[in-house]
Amino acid sequence: MGDPGEASDGLAEGARRPDTGLPESMRAMVFEGVGRPLRELERPLPQASPGELLIEVKACGVCRTDLHLLDGEVPIAHPPRVLGHQIVGVARSGSPEWDGRRVGVPWLGWTCGKCAYCRSGRENLCRRARFTGRDTDGGMAQYTVADERYCFAIPDGYSDAQAAPLLCAGLISYRALRMCGSAQRLGLYGFGAAAHILTQVACGEGREVYAFTREGDGAAQAFARELGAIWAGHSAEAPPQELDGAIVFAPVGSLVVQALRALAPGGTVVCGGIHMSDIPSFPYKDLWEERSVRSVANLTRRDAEEFLKLAPGVPVRTHVHTYPLPAAGEALADLRAGRLTGAAVIVP
Ligand SMILES: [Zn+2]
Ligand SMILES: [Zn+2]
Repeated sequence: MGDPGEASDGLAEGARRPDTGLPESMRAMVFEGVGRPLRELERPLPQASPGELLIEVKACGVCRTDLHLLDGEVPIAHPPRVLGHQIVGVARSGSPEWDGRRVGVPWLGWTCGKCAYCRSGRENLCRRARFTGRDTDGGMAQYTVADERYCFAIPDGYSDAQAAPLLCAGLISYRALRMCGSAQRLGLYGFGAAAHILTQVACGEGREVYAFTREGDGAAQAFARELGAIWAGHSAEAPPQELDGAIVFAPVGSLVVQALRALAPGGTVVCGGIHMSDIPSFPYKDLWEERSVRSVANLTRRDAEEFLKLAPGVPVRTHVHTYPLPAAGEALADLRAGRLTGAAVIVP
């Protein structure tokens, strides 16, 4: 794929193509290798193939998965790569159906459509799936392209920045919630972008939310209560009631054991992240009585359709901190350090 990003390859910033009115180049924050900071580069405008949309990016949410990609815990096979998989933008070319419309692009970017997983409603598990901002260039740029079959209309009533976190934090946590079945008392371990959305959804469904944060994180605990959690404390604390289900968003394996110990018989712990530190061994009695531990992986298009329909009705309100495109590295650092309540969003 070479290195098309160097500013020295003759791209004139600001030049526009007379036929489309679109610029010839764009700014992008580019991942070049593990352990290296994202680099701001001038790149040629991406070209949409048939079936793809060219999208002018208006907002792109930052996700913990982006940290795992930066750190090499989730490998990127073919750098350089533009990260970012919670994209809200406007379709600038592609199908007439989308042209000029607001569009959302999530993590799931393409599936084969033929394998046993794809044919049984589990395209999230397709072995050949391609993911936005890992296998294809994502949204930390002024423009991106996406397969239109994996794009979604964004509900009215959300600004571009407020809608961005719905696309991963929102819909993957929604999938995790479905895995908790009808759990009435729900524990959320790690209170970041995903938990702040899911608290609102779960409370809207009449469930009780118990929020677990880092020790001493009074701001996150107050934020959780504000959003409807009936209890908030630190993750080593036992909740006042046994939980029917728990979702672990923080990438900390020991929390899986803590969550299991907080469960009532028959309860489920769902691991919500793509990567986690090792889970320590634990006595079988913690799993006994039909407790279970499982993970949630990616999303299906059906999850996205259901969640984007449901969110405005709850209504889910997202709390976002916006950063200009060149500050993408700062947004990632703030996320890593836990300096945020809510979600970080890049606005190119
Ligand atoms: Zn994500
Ligand atoms: Zn497949």
